[in-house]
Amino acid sequence: MTAITEQDRAPHDPFEVIPGIRVVPLRTPTLPPATHTNCVVLGHERVVLVDPASPYPEEQARLQGWIAEEGLTVHAVWLTHHHLDHVGGANAAKEAFDVPVCAHPATAQRLEGAVPIDVELFEGDSPNAVHDIDIGLDVRALHTPGHARGHLAFREEVSRIIVAGDLVAGQGTIVIDPPEGDMGDYLATLARLITEGCGTLIPSHGGAIAAGEEKLLEYIAHRKMREDQLLAALAKREGRPLDLVPILYPEVPTMFHPLASRQILAHLLKLESEGQVERPDGSSGVPGSPIYLSADMAGWTAVLPVFRLR
Ligand SMILES: [Zn+2]
Repeated sequence: MTAITEQDRAPHDPFEVIPGIRVVPLRTPTLPPATHTNCVVLGHERVVLVDPASPYPEEQARLQGWIAEEGLTVHAVWLTHHHLDHVGGANAAKEAFDVPVCAHPATAQRLEGAVPIDVELFEGDSPNAVHDIDIGLDVRALHTPGHARGHLAFREEVSRIIVAGDLVAGQGTIVIDPPEGDMGDYLATLARLITEGCGTLIPSHGGAIAAGEEKLLEYIAHRKMREDQLLAALAKREGRPLDLVPILYPEVPTMFHPLASRQILAHLLKLESEGQVERPDGSSGVPGSPIYLSADMAGWTAVLPVFRLR
């Protein structure tokens, strides 16, 4: 986690990763220190827009102007997941370009009443199969749960470049907030991407990450270190997630402690499912409510149960 005061050093101007894969960072109401969400433009002339995310009309106009200048034809909007800082411009893009908005069924369910999903996307789907268009790249959808249940990443099969959404961050951190976030699923997703081979990662926030596999290994090692710290803390005494925050995240300002406690909860639920920790009060399921990018303040005040080593 990073303090809110950290400067936003991510690129804000459009940039090209390889011919046919371009990124237009758009200003969004996202989690600090990030201030922008990357809209990834897949294709040479016929293109798919991934996460045209900004709810701000001036940013939507900037994206539309850039697409006109580049001479591109938009055929679809694809969404990585349902979070507000990824879908805020989906309806506007649909209207501006007269194209379908597409996402995983779990994302469609979460966006009901806010962003209608015209076409459901599944593991293995390509622009060719779904829209009958040739974007000049071999792009496939990957179902990648962990941060969100309906999270999709998109991989270009020749370069192995991955449009990674919120699986990794070029700046800030990836929040795993249960039950939407699932630490076991998240680590399995990262391992899967390494096993299948990956090149450059394009995160939703921050610049492209050239050494993709190294970054994913780093992420897995980092979470493993947190898990070890958590087990060591619980070996000394049982505790509630919030009590464990100062031990695991001493650098995190107090205002972010409730969010940090949800990350610790995510680790505890994984360890519980593995039989390594338990709750003395005998409760089960996901306690409290998610607070990440949520206006529901109940999650901030919920008292989470005590966990101890088994
Ligand atoms: Zn997200």
